Amino acid sequence: MHQYFSRSYAEARRIFLQQCEATAATLEHIQHPLSGPDGDIYMDVAIWGERQCEHMLIVSSATHGIEGYAGSGLQSLLLAEDLPNQLPENTTLLMIHGVNPHGFAWQRRVTEDNVDLNRNFLDHSIPPENPEYLEIAEILEPNEWHQDTEASIREQLSHFSQKHGARWLQGAMTKGQYTHENGFFYGGKEPTWSNLKLHELGRRYINHARMATMVDIHTALGQFGEAECITTYPMTSDEYKRCRSLWGMRVQTTDTGDSVSVDVNGPMVNAMQQYSDALGTGLEFGTHAVSEVTMALIADQWLHQHADFNFAAGHPVKERMMEAFYPDSDKWRESIAGITREILNQSLSRTS
Ligand SMILES: [Zn+2]
Repeated sequence: MHQYFSRSYAEARRIFLQQCEATAATLEHIQHPLSGPDGDIYMDVAIWGERQCEHMLIVSSATHGIEGYAGSGLQSLLLAEDLPNQLPENTTLLMIHGVNPHGFAWQRRVTEDNVDLNRNFLDHSIPPENPEYLEIAEILEPNEWHQDTEASIREQLSHFSQKHGARWLQGAMTKGQYTHENGFFYGGKEPTWSNLKLHELGRRYINHARMATMVDIHTALGQFGEAECITTYPMTSDEYKRCRSLWGMRVQTTDTGDSVSVDVNGPMVNAMQQYSDALGTGLEFGTHAVSEVTMALIADQWLHQHADFNFAAGHPVKERMMEAFYPDSDKWRESIAGITREILNQSLSRTS
C-alpha cells in the first residue's frame, strides 16, 4: 500500500490519475492559474456513477495543501482497492484531488494568497473578530530567523499558554483571523480560487444528488495515527445526531470544546451543505505534538514571507513541514488507511 503515498505533488497526481483511469472514472481537470515547483497544477475531479443519484459520497484531499500527501495517498489506495465497484446501487462516488493544489505542490498549508481555505467560507463583508490574535501576532510572524529564534518563540507562547490556558492559545492562533494578511490562519478578504471552484462543483455535481456525504481529509491534530471526525454542528442539532449515528464515537463537534479543533470561522464542509442534503466531516488524523506542528508552520511562514527561498526537496523547513503533516512512518500510514476504510464503509451505509 505504501506505493500510493508520494513525496511530490506531481507524483501524487500521476498515481491518482492512473488509478482513475484503471477504474474508468469520468475526469475533469481544473487548472490553477499559478504553477507548482514541477509545473502546472490542478484541482482534479473524478466521478464514478451518475450525477443524478440518491447518494453522493465525496472524498476530498488537500484543503490544507500539504495535508494532501496523506489525502491523495488514501484516495489512490481506495481506488486501487476497487472502491468504485463496491458502491451500493444508486450511489455515486466523487473524488476531489488537490482542493488547494498550490499549497499541496509547494508543501504549504495555505493557498497561493496565504489563506487558510478552511476559514474562508463566510461573508467577507462582516469578518469575525479575533482580538486574541493581536496579542500574539508578533510572536507568530517573525521577520528574521536566528539560532535562538525558535527557543524564544516557544518560551513566549508557553507564557501565554500558562497565563490563559492551552485552549485559549489554540483559539487565538487557529480559529481564523481576518486582519493580518501575511499572518497565521488568515481567512482572506474574499473567496479564494479554491473556494470559488468548490462552489462551482457544488452546482455542477453535488446539486444533482438527493443527499451527499462529504469526507474531507486533514492531518495534524490528535494522537499519532488516530482520528477524529470533526464537525462544527451544534450538539443538539439534527446534523450532529446524524453524524454520530453514521460514524459513531469518532464524531466530535467544535461546538463543545471536546474536539481536537477549536470552533473555527468559515469552515468549508458546512458551506457545501447548501448543495443537496449534505452531511460533512473533516476526517482529521493526528501526527505530532501541537507545539512541533506550530513551530513547523511558523518556520514555513517566515520562509515564504521573508527568506530568499528556492524550492528544493530536502529543504530543512520543508522536511519539517512534511513530517508535521505527513509522518514518514509505515505504522502511521497503515493506521490512517484502516480508519479511512472504516469511515467510508460507514458513509456508504447512510440512508437518510
Ligand atoms: Zn487541515
